[in-house]
Amino acid sequence: MSERKKRFGRGANECKRCGRKRGIVRKYGIYLCRQCFREVAMELGFKKYW
Ligand SMILES: [Zn+2]
Repeated sequence: MSERKKRFGRGANECKRCGRKRGIVRKYGIYLCRQCFREVAMELGFKKYW
């Protein structure tokens, strides 16, 4: 059960905002899940990016 926890290492593949490990976006050097990325993207002005 604990084996798959260490598989990707820490912080490398999880959302920096909410800690989710699914659907991580690693573009532009950011590590956010799609939901957080969308929110951040809108804040940054990437409207309609998705
Ligand atoms: Zn997130």
